[in-house]
Amino acid sequence: MRIVLLGAPGVGKGTIASLLSKKYGLPHISTGDIFKGAIRKGDELGLRVKSIVESGNLVPDELVNQVVRKRLLQEDASKGFFLDGYPRTVEQANAMDKFSKPDAILNLNADRKTIIKRLSGRRVCTGCGAIYHIRYSQPKKEGICDSCKGKLIKRKDDDESVIANRLDVYENQTKPLIEFYNKRKSYFEIDSNYEMEDIDRITKQCEDALSKVK
Ligand SMILES: [Zn+2]
Repeated sequence: MRIVLLGAPGVGKGTIASLLSKKYGLPHISTGDIFKGAIRKGDELGLRVKSIVESGNLVPDELVNQVVRKRLLQEDASKGFFLDGYPRTVEQANAMDKFSKPDAILNLNADRKTIIKRLSGRRVCTGCGAIYHIRYSQPKKEGICDSCKGKLIKRKDDDESVIANRLDVYENQTKPLIEFYNKRKSYFEIDSNYEMEDIDRITKQCEDALSKVK
């Protein structure tokens, strides 16, 4: 089963993807990891990606498509995958339909209030980069990292106004993509307005959706 996961930053996509991946025995493939892997390998594609990323430019669709396609053809993904971070544009979605058409598209939705509450509670260690949350994953001692004793801070990215702006950008970018997918029978909206303690209520909806395809 080839599954694409869509969702705004802070919607819990990474967490859900790794839970589902374990449950279904299919790899969780995130584009961030694919790119890091390609760069590490240092083959021709990897070198092209590296030079573009290092120059601070956006990797063009055509190259993103090639890199993702190559990754999805690897042995571990032969039975399917949970793909996170791709496609981002209609052009990418069109390309993916040709090389590995998704069997299901799960679009995780949550209200702005929920997302802001989640993201604004995040704290990052200035020492080792570990991530905590003031409600869901507290350090043993407030403001101090458990593993390296570094100071925990709130990233600028996680300020409410910055989050609101990131969500605007995300919505504008993905609107055409959602329109591209939402007429398909394989497209499902997943209500993700739950506390992280109730995450199984989100995964349950995903499982119900997946039981309807293939
Ligand atoms: Zn630390």
